[in-house]
Amino acid sequence: MPAERLTYQSRCERASEALRARGIAALLLSSSSDLAYLAGYRIHASERLTCLVVSADGGATLVVPELESPRAKAAAPDLTQRTWGETEDPYALVASLVTAKGDVAVADQMWSLFVLRLQAVLRGRGFQLASVITRGLRMRKDAYEREALRAVSAAADRAFPRLLEHEFAGRTEREIGAELAELLRDEGHDEVTFTIVGSGPNGASPHHEIGDRRIALGDTVVLDFGGTREWYCSDITRTVHVGANVDDEVRRVHDIVLRSQEAGYAAARTGATAASVDAASRRVIDDAGYGERFIHRTGHGIGLDGHEHPYLVRGNEERLEPGMAFSIEPGIYIPGRFGVRIEDIAILGDDGRAEPLNRADHALAIVR
Ligand code: ZN
Ligand code: ZN
Ligand code: ZN
Repeated sequence: MPAERLTYQSRCERASEALRARGIAALLLSSSSDLAYLAGYRIHASERLTCLVVSADGGATLVVPELESPRAKAAAPDLTQRTWGETEDPYALVASLVTAKGDVAVADQMWSLFVLRLQAVLRGRGFQLASVITRGLRMRKDAYEREALRAVSAAADRAFPRLLEHEFAGRTEREIGAELAELLRDEGHDEVTFTIVGSGPNGASPHHEIGDRRIALGDTVVLDFGGTREWYCSDITRTVHVGANVDDEVRRVHDIVLRSQEAGYAAARTGATAASVDAASRRVIDDAGYGERFIHRTGHGIGLDGHEHPYLVRGNEERLEPGMAFSIEPGIYIPGRFGVRIEDIAILGDDGRAEPLNRADHALAIVR
């Protein structure tokens, strides 16, 4: 259970203020990180509608299936609940709670199953994305969230060197991934969300799906992994090499990616635009002649979601502010041969600088 209940009440109040400022009647949040952020209640999406209604006039009500009411009460005892039984209509109930004039804003990841029915009962109102309200709140992490991100990043950091103690050569990507998942849990993750193990040519696919390729001496291996601890996400990438006999180009590329990441860190400060951090990282790779092999943005925000605002990408002129947490993860991908990516989570401190939350060694680790 994350922050104190007062935190959620004040977050809802700030959401109501933002609704009033934009002339939106209410936020309608089905199971999502927005709901967790504002209510302190997290539940997987299902066909039964759970919906937090935050209205512009200040009220917040959780519409919840009767059978999940005890669970919601336990998580959020102070939150007003309206329950619906198995044969009742939750959509009419939600609509009855939307009293102010104007559009409604629905969770970005609300299922069509819910959206279409809400549109039917709220006929005549415009629908917007909840992120117009919630992104501004969620991007600026408060003290509790900063600490939660530090803790989960540190847990990921501790798992990494333990993985390197064992032999890579002869094991499959899947076996390495399974061990990594176990280490992440052992070091304090509640859930492991993903383990990317891109060995040899598979490393050239940034989001490679773990497979049965057997790792061999001479392989470069991209390890990108993360999970959650008390709802907050970790995400780290390191690239290792199997055996001490490292190809010159692998060394050169690793060095370029490392310098690119350092340039990203140096550029990431209060007042800089998200795009300028991407540009700083990209310039190092462009200048080294590998620009076309850096095939993704430099980073993404992180918090309750693994990927959230702000995105460090060309064209995003959003200015960075204290409390923003994001990855800096340049990479170079050589099709058919290997890939290199180095990723840390950084958070902008009140002094305006980027504090690295991941401190696991960045150098190209040599594994057996
Ligand atoms: Zn990714
Ligand atoms: Zn990652
Ligand atoms: Zn990432």
